[in-house]
Amino acid sequence: MGVPERPPTVFRTMHATQKLSSRLSDNFGFDTFRPGQHQACSAAMQGRDTLVLMATGSGKSLCYQLPGLELEGVTVVVSPLISLAEDQAAHIRELGTHAAVLNSSKSKKQICQYREDIRSGKAEFVFTTPERLQQSDICDLLAEVGVDIFVIDEAHCASQWGHDFRPDYLCLHHARQRLGNPPILAMTATASPKTIVEIIRCLKLSDPEMIATGITRPNLRLDVVACVGEKEKTSALRDLFQAESDLDANEPAIVYCATTKTCERLRDELSDLPMPTLCYHGRMKQSLRSESQSAFMDGPPAVMFATNAFGLGIDKPDIRRVVHYDLPGSLEAYYQEAGRAGRDGSAAACTLFFDREDIGLQKMFASGAIDSSQLMTAHHTLVKGIERWGDDGDGVSLTDLKRISPLGRQTLKQCLQQLAARGYAAPAGRGRWACLLDTIDHAVTDGIAADARMRCEDRRIAIDQMVSYAESSECRWTILQKHFETSSASDQLCRCGNCGGVDADVA
Ligand code: ADP
Repeated sequence: MGVPERPPTVFRTMHATQKLSSRLSDNFGFDTFRPGQHQACSAAMQGRDTLVLMATGSGKSLCYQLPGLELEGVTVVVSPLISLAEDQAAHIRELGTHAAVLNSSKSKKQICQYREDIRSGKAEFVFTTPERLQQSDICDLLAEVGVDIFVIDEAHCASQWGHDFRPDYLCLHHARQRLGNPPILAMTATASPKTIVEIIRCLKLSDPEMIATGITRPNLRLDVVACVGEKEKTSALRDLFQAESDLDANEPAIVYCATTKTCERLRDELSDLPMPTLCYHGRMKQSLRSESQSAFMDGPPAVMFATNAFGLGIDKPDIRRVVHYDLPGSLEAYYQEAGRAGRDGSAAACTLFFDREDIGLQKMFASGAIDSSQLMTAHHTLVKGIERWGDDGDGVSLTDLKRISPLGRQTLKQCLQQLAARGYAAPAGRGRWACLLDTIDHAVTDGIAADARMRCEDRRIAIDQMVSYAESSECRWTILQKHFETSSASDQLCRCGNCGGVDADVA
C-alpha cells in the first residue's frame, strides 16, 4: 500500500490560513487578526516552540485559544496564579468548550471530576499551576490523552532577571518532557532582550518562533513628577488625586510603594480622599489581603496603596491611574506595574514620583549576593533534610531545613533557588524542596556565586536605567521601546509628559 500523498505546502498553508480565519469569525466573532495573532496561531499549529511578546490587552489569549480549539488533543495552560487560571477557564467556557482547572483551591471531588473529564477527552483545555505539574500523576494522565500545546502564561516569571521570578517555573521544562514533549507557546507582555534570552534558556525552547508586536499602548499617558523629600511627595500625591482632571477623580487607582510602612502611612494620611483607600502588602494576614483585593476588584472605585506584592492577578480593566510613589527596581518592573492601568483601552495615567533619595533604598534591595560556601551549606542542608524528613518523596519544607541550617531563611531560600536553576534541587510545591543531585562540586558553587554577583550588578544597572528614565527629557515611550527593543517609535500622537502630546482624553 502506498503512502498517501501529502498536499503541497502552499495548499496546506492556504487551507490552514482559511481554517484559522473562519474559526476566528465563527468562534470569536472577530473579522481580522490583530498583529502577531495569525503568526502565533500558525506556529503553534505547526508544532513549533513559540515566544509571544505582545502588550497587555493586545489579544495574547487568542494565540492559544484558537489553535487549541482547532487541534484534537489537549491544550495545557500554566499560569502563575489560581485567579488567572480561573479567568481564562471562564473565557473558554464562554466559547462553549469544556475546560478543566487543576489547582490547590479545588476540592478532592472537583479534581476527580476534572481528571475524569480529561481521561474521557471531554476537557479540551486544562488550566493549572507549575506546582501542580510537579505531580507526576497529573503529567502522566495528560500525556496519556495527548497534549498538543503547552502554554506558559506570564513567561517572564521563568526569568531570575525579571521582577516576578517564580522558582517553580524552572521546573516547567521537566514537566514538558513528562507531558510527551509538546511544543511550548510562551507568552508575556514585558520582557527585555535579556529576559527573553533567559526565558528561552529556562524553558529550553528549541529554535522558537519569535513574535513581538511592540509594547506601546497609546491610551497610557506616562509622566514623571520630581519631588524632594517625603512631605513634598505626599502633598504631590494628594494634589494628583484632587486635581481637576478628565480622568474622573472617582476612578480606581493603584499607588505602588516600596515598603509596607509607606503603604500604611499613605492609606491613613489620605483617608480623607473622596473614595475609599485600601492597603495591600505581604506582611498583612492572608485573610485581610484577600478582603482588600476583593474590595478593590469588585467594590466601589478605590485607591489601593500597595507594594509589588499586589501583582500578577490584577487584571481589572478600568484602573485609570497607577502611581509609583517610590522608584521601582527596573524598567521591567515599572512597565509591568504601570501597565495595569487602562486595560480596557480607555485613557489612563501612569505617574512616577522621583526623588533622588529613593535610589539608595533600591540599591539596598539590590545588594546581598550569595557566596560559594553558603551554596555548599545549603546543598548539604538539603541532603541532610531529605534524609531526615523526605522519605515520602514529597521533598522537605524550608521551615524544617531552617531548623538544621546555619543560614538565614532568606539566604537559604535564595541558595535553593540558585541550586534549582542548575538542576541540583527542585521546588516540590507548598514551600517544599526536593534534592535532584546528592553531591555538588566547588566548581559548580563557585560558578553559581559568580552568576549571583553578576545578577546583583545587573540589578544595579537596572536601577540606573530606571533613574535615567526618570531624569530624561526624551520621549518616554521611545525610552521604553529602546529598552524592550520590540518596535520602533510610532508616529502616533505621543501621550508622554515629555512630548506634551496631550489630547482631549487625557489631562
Ligand atoms: P492580553 O492577554 O494580551 O492582555 P486578551 O487576550 O485578554 O489580551 O485580549 C484583550 C481583548 O482583546 C479581549 O477583549 C479580546 O476579546 C479582544 N481581542 C482579541 N483578539 C481580537 C481580535 N482579533 N479582534 C478584536 N478583538 C480581539
